[in-house]
Amino acid sequence: MDKSILKKAYSQQDFNENGNRLIDKLTQHFKNTTSGKNLKTLSWNEPEKELTFWKDFLKNGAKEDFFSEVLKRTTHTHHPKYVGHQVSAAAPITTLSAMVSALLNNGMAVYEMGMAPSAIEKVVTDSICQKIGYKADYGGLLTSGGTLANLTALLSARRAKIKRDIWNEGYSEQLGIMVCEQAHYCIDRAVKIMGLGEQGIIKVPSKDNFAMDTAQLPSCYKEATAKGIHIFAIVGSAPSTATGAYDDLNAIADFAKEKNLWFHVDGAHGGAAIYSNKYNYLLEGIVHSDSVVIDGHKMMLMPTITTALLFKNKLHAQHTFNQKADYLLSEDEEDDWINSGKKTFECTKTMMCMHWYVLLKFYGEQVFNEFVTRQYDLAKDFEKTLLKDSNFELATSPMSNILCFRYIGNTLDDSKLNQLNTAIRQELLVEGEFYLVQTKLNGKQYLRTSLMNPFTTIDHLERLLEKIKAKGRHLSKNLR
Ligand SMILES: *Cc1c(COP(=O)(O)O)cnc(C)c1O
Repeated sequence: MDKSILKKAYSQQDFNENGNRLIDKLTQHFKNTTSGKNLKTLSWNEPEKELTFWKDFLKNGAKEDFFSEVLKRTTHTHHPKYVGHQVSAAAPITTLSAMVSALLNNGMAVYEMGMAPSAIEKVVTDSICQKIGYKADYGGLLTSGGTLANLTALLSARRAKIKRDIWNEGYSEQLGIMVCEQAHYCIDRAVKIMGLGEQGIIKVPSKDNFAMDTAQLPSCYKEATAKGIHIFAIVGSAPSTATGAYDDLNAIADFAKEKNLWFHVDGAHGGAAIYSNKYNYLLEGIVHSDSVVIDGHKMMLMPTITTALLFKNKLHAQHTFNQKADYLLSEDEEDDWINSGKKTFECTKTMMCMHWYVLLKFYGEQVFNEFVTRQYDLAKDFEKTLLKDSNFELATSPMSNILCFRYIGNTLDDSKLNQLNTAIRQELLVEGEFYLVQTKLNGKQYLRTSLMNPFTTIDHLERLLEKIKAKGRHLSKNLR
């Protein structure tokens, strides 16, 4: 491949030069975003215009400009005014682990295709299991996202709790899963993918604070069972996505035990609070779960995408996708940790374990303790600020770093307020100084902030509120 373009594609010199330039560029980007020196969190562009730009760039753009253009034309999670969706402002060291994973490209389905990462994954998942409080038989895996991890856990639950060999024979009865109506939509999606249909998801109503009303568990269960639904699993949210409300895991655990249900904890967002000395009480009862999901790319400072799925008994993980009919946990079954691909949906996956390990190795668990505690504290401060100002109304007191509120001004009715808050959010998006999102709760439109960024301070949030008030006053004139 002497003169070929393929040879160029593998040029060591190009790699070194481009790489060094890029690291300098990213360092500058990192500096400008975290300091807030870049005025904007995102430079909004209409989708069609963005599409045209990139079509044209492929033909006419200069190669050297590629990375700069990407940096300019995206959302900057490191900007302290980024208070939008739940992805982390990744710790820079994990950019380096991502790069190593990309170059080595070990697929990890079998041990030979990733010896170091297979062992590292076991070290990491074992340490999270210990933090949860699981004893002796625990084990886990890493997979591509909370959505996939929740589906995997529920398949494990089905395998463990249902005697019939559904994998091979299909269903002969209607099965069901219980979950709070406020749970992330991926639970609903998992139930549908599993072929349980709409009747297979039993939605437990929430309380005023949007957490599961566990007092209603017995009646929901009874009603579903009377319809012939065989319930085999229950999911607790830790917390749910829209409002960040933690379900009472102890209450759910008791119920699960009484009814012999698999107890799964969806801690995609806030499972990380097990590391917070101040806030780990929110997860009391998690030790009684059969499985737990925690996203690395949300509250654990990692880049997308890496999720830990932890099991109280590792043999359940090994049987999820097992095609053999007989399934009994046996004491002498070997721990098959070296064959990651048997336990995950993915055949090939990235060496995602390195992000967890590198953070633990360089900074220890303390980095997660500090981060989660800081962000949850900040939400409490933000709540205090909001409560002092009669222009705003909170959806509920925050239990985590997710906080929903709306501008109410003084004179508008609810339908107008919905329009108004939607319009405020749209203006903020187009302006791009701040990035926040929105959600509808009980028919009311709320502005929603997830405080994901360790550079965000209460001053930034006060400035956000000033902007919202100015917009609210101005925009409400058109709505009267
Ligand atoms: C984000 C989230 C998910 C989905 O996780 P992904 O990693 O985005 O697939 C599931 N459950 C909860 C509670 C979440 O917050």
